[in-house]
Amino acid sequence: MTVKEKTPEIRPIAGGVYLINEFDGTNCYLLAGSSKALLIDCGTGLCDYTAAVRSVTDLPFTVAATHGHVDHIGGAGQFDEVFVHRLDCRLFNRAQASVFLRRLFTLGNAAVKAHGIGPRDAKRYPRKANLTPFDDFSVDLGGKTVTAHLTPGHTKGSVAFIDEEDKLIFSGDNVCDALWLHLPGCTSVEEWLPSARWLYEKSADYRIFWGHRTPELTREYIGTVIGWGEEILQSRSRNTILPLIKQYPPQSDGILYRTDRVFKKQ
Ligand SMILES: [Zn+2]
Repeated sequence: MTVKEKTPEIRPIAGGVYLINEFDGTNCYLLAGSSKALLIDCGTGLCDYTAAVRSVTDLPFTVAATHGHVDHIGGAGQFDEVFVHRLDCRLFNRAQASVFLRRLFTLGNAAVKAHGIGPRDAKRYPRKANLTPFDDFSVDLGGKTVTAHLTPGHTKGSVAFIDEEDKLIFSGDNVCDALWLHLPGCTSVEEWLPSARWLYEKSADYRIFWGHRTPELTREYIGTVIGWGEEILQSRSRNTILPLIKQYPPQSDGILYRTDRVFKKQ
C-alpha cells in the first residue's frame, strides 16, 4: 500500500505567480514566465515540491531561497541544486537541511501539526542538499526578470527577490511579526535597520510577500516594525557583555533580539 502524499494549498497572487502554502508552516512562491519558472523557498520539505510545481506549469524551473533556515531550505534535497546567498551557505546552514533538524522543527510547529503533518512527513532524501552560493542572482523567466537584493538581518545572507514586471517582492523573514533577530547567524538590530528601511521604501511601489502566516505585508506594518527597531536602539547605549534574549515591544509580535547584539560590533 502506498501512502498518498499530502498536497499543499496553491493559489495565484498575480499573473503567473503562485503562493504555495506548506501546511501553514512556510509560504513559498512559484513564478512562471513564458520560458522558465522560479521556485522561491522549498519549506521544511513536507511535500513533493516538483509535484506542486508541475500542478501549475510544465516549464523547466530553478529553485532559490530567501535564506538558509530549515523552514526555507528544508526541501533542498529534492533538487539538484538550490541557490542561496553565499553568506547563508555555511556549515550552520547546510545542517539546517538535515533530516534531523527538519523533523525537530516539524515536531515543534503546532500550525503544521494541525494539518495532520508530523515529523515523518519530513522524508529522508537519497542525496544531500546542494546549496549553490551566489553573490548576485538574476533570472530571466521570459516576460519576468527576477533579481535578488541582499537584506542582512534575520540572517546575514537574507535576500529579497524582486519581480520587476509584476511589482512584487518576496522578502523572506526579514521584516514580519515576531521578527527573529536572536538566533545564531542574525545581525545586530542596527545592521538590520537599513534592510528594513529599503523594504519600506520599496513597499510604496511593490506588494511585499513574506515567508509565514498572513503572506502579504502592509506598508504600515513594515513601518511599525522599523519603529520598534529604532526604539530598541534608543533605549540602549551599548551592547551588554552577556547575551539576554528580549522581546520588544513585550507582546507576541514584538522583535526578538539579543542585548549583546543591538549595535554593530566594532
Ligand atoms: Zn528564517
